[in-house]
Amino acid sequence: MSKGQICLSICGKTAEDILQKIERHGGAADLVEIRFDCMSAVERTRIISLLKSIEKPIIATFRSSDQGGRSDLSLNERSRFWKEIKGVDYCDIEEDIAKATILPGKKIVSYHSFRDTPEDIEAIYKRLRTFDPDVIKIAITVDEITDTIPLWKLIETAQNDGVDIIAVAMGDGGKATRILSPSRGALLTFGSPTADDTTAFGQVTVEDLKELYRVDKLDRDTKVFGVIGDPISSSRSPYMHNPVFASLKMNAVFISLLVKDLKGFFAKMVRDKTREVELNFGGFSVTMPHKLEIIPLLDEMDVSANRVGAVNTVEFRDGKLVGHNTDAYGFITPLKSIYNDLKGSRVVVAGAGGAARACVYALKNEGAEVAIAVRDPKKAQAFADEFDVKIISLEGPPERSYADIAVNATPLGMIGGSGNISPFKRDHLNGVKLVYDLVTRSDDTPTISLAKELEIPSIGGIEMLLAQGARQIEIWTGKKAPLKLMRNSLERYAARSL
Ligand code: NAP
Repeated sequence: MSKGQICLSICGKTAEDILQKIERHGGAADLVEIRFDCMSAVERTRIISLLKSIEKPIIATFRSSDQGGRSDLSLNERSRFWKEIKGVDYCDIEEDIAKATILPGKKIVSYHSFRDTPEDIEAIYKRLRTFDPDVIKIAITVDEITDTIPLWKLIETAQNDGVDIIAVAMGDGGKATRILSPSRGALLTFGSPTADDTTAFGQVTVEDLKELYRVDKLDRDTKVFGVIGDPISSSRSPYMHNPVFASLKMNAVFISLLVKDLKGFFAKMVRDKTREVELNFGGFSVTMPHKLEIIPLLDEMDVSANRVGAVNTVEFRDGKLVGHNTDAYGFITPLKSIYNDLKGSRVVVAGAGGAARACVYALKNEGAEVAIAVRDPKKAQAFADEFDVKIISLEGPPERSYADIAVNATPLGMIGGSGNISPFKRDHLNGVKLVYDLVTRSDDTPTISLAKELEIPSIGGIEMLLAQGARQIEIWTGKKAPLKLMRNSLERYAARSL
């Protein structure tokens, strides 16, 4: 098996189910893993008799539920399975039977930690080597991106030892390992048939691995761009930026990076003097909650970032990290395509975080009359003073003639955010002529639904996402962004995820 391959991991209840998934999704994969622990003994026998019809190399896995499998299996049942099965290329087995069992294919000895990140991964690797494996597989659960550092080091060690390794970090924080580990020398990465048919937490679909992330084309020279934030699972920036890199024929990839401890991330994975691993980062998009906290960690700020006081884009320029803000431009561009002149328009912006700063800055620049609507007016006082705007409490009764335009710049309504509601109540939108929700979702957010109910025209977060993303591409690549391609790609993704 050569390096850098994609393996379709399948859990199916029947033989037909398995064959159908291979037929539908196998095209993007180099090999398939069949999870024999997902089916009954009868179906197992049926699929074993049909293995010859599968053209791709097969990894067989048969794990008990206490080892992360889907069936309760005794040691005897597992040992018997490996005696009976034929026609597979790789056998993924656990340590407890790795010594004694004679296998019909190459031996993958695997270790899984489904709850946490083990202390000493190197020791586990050394122990697994004593079972004389053809391949070592280590899959751990991580809480954020910096927890993956031992895995990157391990891939390096295995390469130096001439050992084939599969290294997976499960969870949103481990997505980078699923996309980049083959480019660092891991034997393969597992992908799922669809986003909701996964065999492990954080798995990416095989189609996305192949077409969106171009896993088979990535190498050590690939520039890695990413969006850093928490939560990050609903970010659609990878769908917007990866097709651009492909169309510009750049050796670059864009991934989600779940970062909780921003300082730790910069020290351990970004800054060249202190980092423990080098992933060849080329730039970042920054999302909540890091847009303000990132400022002291950067070397320079451009004018937009300085004026807004928040950073949503980091450029790596001549060894320096430069902060930009493309949110202000991204916010105002779709609004100006409707309201050519915003001078004197009354706009209420819900929220006082990084995005709200960009909205208020851009609106004031256009001469709009701006108020912020917040849950804690005391906390927002400094913001209001800085931008010279009025504060309205979201908790109190809405004022008469509230505004012409209402903007949601809170995470309310965001998938994985702080609540599936709108910050605005019906009365807040009395007399409002346009509702603008920054939250990006494939379906209507609660704020957009409320606007529709009240027959108020609205703008969704995708419009801002596109405009600010186009500016990011220009900063990172110096080239004009192909906006149409970005929109089409986002729409394709939205249609798929509905
Ligand atoms: P942030 O810096 O964390 O700020 C969030 C703001 O929302 C804070 O003022 C917070 O108030 C307020 N908030 C949170 N929960 C609330 C609640 N339950 N009720 C009332 N207010 C609440 O986040 P951000 O970076 O500004 O992002 C805000 C939203 O905009 C996110 O959904 C983000 O995805 C979206 N956004 C979209 C785009 C785009 O391109 N479409 C660009 C940027 C941002 P406290 O201070 O009281 O916590």
